[in-house]
Amino acid sequence: MTVLIAGGGIAGLTMALTCHQIGVPAIVLESVRTVAPLGVGINLQPNAIRELFDLGLADELDAIGIEAQEWALVGRNGNDIWAEPRGRSAGYNWPQYSVHRGQLQMLLYKTVLGRLGPEAVRTGHRVVSYRTSTNEVTVSVDTRDGHEVEVSGSLLLAADGLHSTIRAQMYPEEGDPVWGGAVLWRGATPGPPIRSGASFTLVGTLEQRFIHYPISSVDPATGLQLQNWIAELTFDPSQGWERSDWNTQVDVGVFLPRFEDWKFDWLDIHSLVHGAPAVWEFPMVDRDPVNQWVDGRVCLLGDAAHAMYPVGSNGASQAIVDARVLGAKFVELGVGPEALVAFEAELIEPMSSLVLRNRGSGPVSILGVVDERCGGVFDYIDDVIPRSDVEAFMANYKRAAGFAIEALNTSTPTISADARAPGDT
Ligand SMILES: Cc1cc2nc3c(=O)[nH]c(=O)nc-3n(C[C@H](O)[C@H](O)[C@H](O)COP(=O)(O)OP(=O)(O)OC[C@H]3O[C@@H](n4cnc5c(N)ncnc54)[C@H](O)[C@@H]3O)c2cc1C
Repeated sequence: MTVLIAGGGIAGLTMALTCHQIGVPAIVLESVRTVAPLGVGINLQPNAIRELFDLGLADELDAIGIEAQEWALVGRNGNDIWAEPRGRSAGYNWPQYSVHRGQLQMLLYKTVLGRLGPEAVRTGHRVVSYRTSTNEVTVSVDTRDGHEVEVSGSLLLAADGLHSTIRAQMYPEEGDPVWGGAVLWRGATPGPPIRSGASFTLVGTLEQRFIHYPISSVDPATGLQLQNWIAELTFDPSQGWERSDWNTQVDVGVFLPRFEDWKFDWLDIHSLVHGAPAVWEFPMVDRDPVNQWVDGRVCLLGDAAHAMYPVGSNGASQAIVDARVLGAKFVELGVGPEALVAFEAELIEPMSSLVLRNRGSGPVSILGVVDERCGGVFDYIDDVIPRSDVEAFMANYKRAAGFAIEALNTSTPTISADARAPGDT
């Protein structure tokens, strides 16, 4: 029987492509009526790129993304705290890509339609609830035209994101995502190349920072590339924040005055912010880890399972890896509850730890140390923190997030090219 996938975001569409690769029939039930290229920039780490390459999307990714070369933490006065190569420049067998989230989603969406057929994604289908029996799962779907229909399948894979309806049914007491006090304002603006032209830079302190990375190559006609930027401020979390929606548009006056005196000769924050056609606000939220992602024939994945702060560039990467690990369990154990339990057993503990680690600001918590020791202002970083301390910290983080170089380069593919799932169990 067909596997039902709730949500046609990054996790759900990668899951559909994976099911197709291993011979498992799948349909995606997506809430929005029309899939549109929403969001701004995201980073895809080499562990996720390997999976997309294995799905045959190398050329397509190269066409929409830019291969990241450098990751840099910069102090409040514009001096480097730490800079390291990324992707293939760092020795990975696979690149790291910075891409527009919407373009990645459209690439996956079109590929699903092309490979699985035009009926494989049912848009305007919002999953409202599920019920399970021994052999199947049935979902109630609001078709957004005043009708409710039922759809049955062998499994329900909940890739319905941060506000997952399916997770809410599993955990009715859970409520809204948890806000820790930080708010992000995001945009994308055509601008001249910064640093290497393929650098991720994070400037500032733990409480106030500005992040930037390009998400397109340089247009030879204009000399500009699309620069993704994020301004971040921290508030008292006890005040609460009303919305946690990726689509809330705001005016720059809400945050830009706080960056008034942030002027660097290599980064023009004001031009970047003012040049963006739209600016989106998103409070940095996540969800407390839970003990189970599986309820019989239903399983959470992606943000529905482990929404985390976007501080380590691993939300979308992990959504992709989740889909592939689950596909590998189907190959190994068949398309049934046993595979879901094996998926959960492999990932729930490391992902729960990663959610909590990212609350501690993930790879950028080193900024806290620098802040404490010199207020973020220094001439020579070695006077503030030994290089070996930063190196050890970064290595630990990569290990925890699943993209340690050696481990990744030497691991066998998650799903081999000729793998097939043995069928329903
Ligand atoms: C519109 C949008 C913009 C985003 N922009 C950014 C960004 O700029 N930067 C960033 O870091 N992250 C962004 N994200 C989040 C990022 O995509 C995820 O953190 C990450 O990719 C994990 O993907 P996911 O597939 O688990 O969740 P998502 O990518 O959030 O996908 C969830 C999908 O499920 C659908 N859905 C929700 N509820 C239901 C339901 N009941 N029934 C059926 N379908 C449902 C949603 O419409 C969506 O397509 C955005 C997410 C969305 C939805």
